[in-house]
Amino acid sequence: MKVKFVDLARQFNSLSAEIGLAISNVLESGNYILGENVRLLEDKLAELTDNKYAIAVANGTDALIIALRLLKIGPGDEVIVPVNSFVASAGAVCAVGAIPVFVDVDSNHNLCYHAVEAALSPRTKAIMPVHLSGRPAPMAEINEIAQRHGLYVVEDSAQAIGASYYGKKTGALGDIGAFSLHPLKNLGVAGDGGFITLSCPHLYERAMRLRNHGLIDRDTSVEWGYNSRLDEIQAAIALVKIQYLDEFNASFKMCADYYYAQLSDIVEVPVKDHNLDPVFHNYMILSDKRDELAAFMCQKGVETKIHYPILLCDQPAFKKYHKSELLFPVARELNAKKLSLPIYAELTTKEQTHVVESIRAFH
Ligand SMILES: *Cc1c(COP(=O)(O)O)cnc(C)c1O
Repeated sequence: MKVKFVDLARQFNSLSAEIGLAISNVLESGNYILGENVRLLEDKLAELTDNKYAIAVANGTDALIIALRLLKIGPGDEVIVPVNSFVASAGAVCAVGAIPVFVDVDSNHNLCYHAVEAALSPRTKAIMPVHLSGRPAPMAEINEIAQRHGLYVVEDSAQAIGASYYGKKTGALGDIGAFSLHPLKNLGVAGDGGFITLSCPHLYERAMRLRNHGLIDRDTSVEWGYNSRLDEIQAAIALVKIQYLDEFNASFKMCADYYYAQLSDIVEVPVKDHNLDPVFHNYMILSDKRDELAAFMCQKGVETKIHYPILLCDQPAFKKYHKSELLFPVARELNAKKLSLPIYAELTTKEQTHVVESIRAFH
């Protein structure tokens, strides 16, 4: 039996009639950029994430870049970033000319707030918590530090659409939220996509023009921006899929619950916290024999992954920002043990059982 780590076509196949119709409606309309679908989607995304505004952009990385631009973060500024994240979190900071300052993580793989304070400098302008694997970062503590030092908080919510923290949605917990609609994310389109969430009307206006060349009308650019628009076809696909997001996320959770029930006695499972409502973008276990376990599971036909095998501080692209005195002991320890299991809405019970049986057989 083979269990793929992801199977994107399954979800599209289950919605193929609706998505096909949505796409052909866009094609027939002749309106392909910044039309009705994008506007409608933005309303729904703002509502979904408990924000006043959502601004659709071309991808999640642009959402982060535009968020930083909105806060006037640029050359000479520093932004605190967890050392374990997808490369885009730090890449976005570098893209605006600022410097990512990496900080160790906690046992949930999220930004360790104890380590944040030590990493602050007079140049620090913002903190960028990442809700890794759909699990909310410790936002109360992060916001408290930010408030005390006059810093902005930009949430990298790329993996956490629909997740909540003490009843409040991710993307509405800091100053600006950045989300991705990449096919691998919990609300994924058939290409690239992303959006920004915020509640300040002035920032909203600027975000709307930054994503479209800084234009305030057809011909006048008031500041240099980007070509970062979500196209109508992707927006139409997102509008179909957003109707099922709660259902998808509930399936992710059911799958996680099954892993919790079946695996807690033999491997370290994600820490449970009843104040958090994670969406399990990934389900990461910890094992002292991680590499042997992964090889064994591969033999059994089960695909696993590591999120992420190379810490940001060790990325060749980021070497020049590395401060040698920072050792990131927790991130390094987790890095040797962490393993992500297949988890997605369409994973069958039979497949989940096979994943569990493979792990149990190894032990
Ligand atoms: C996917 C992801 C991004 C970037 O999103 P794209 O849409 O691929 O540009 C940023 N941060 C994190 C944590 C991600 O997982």
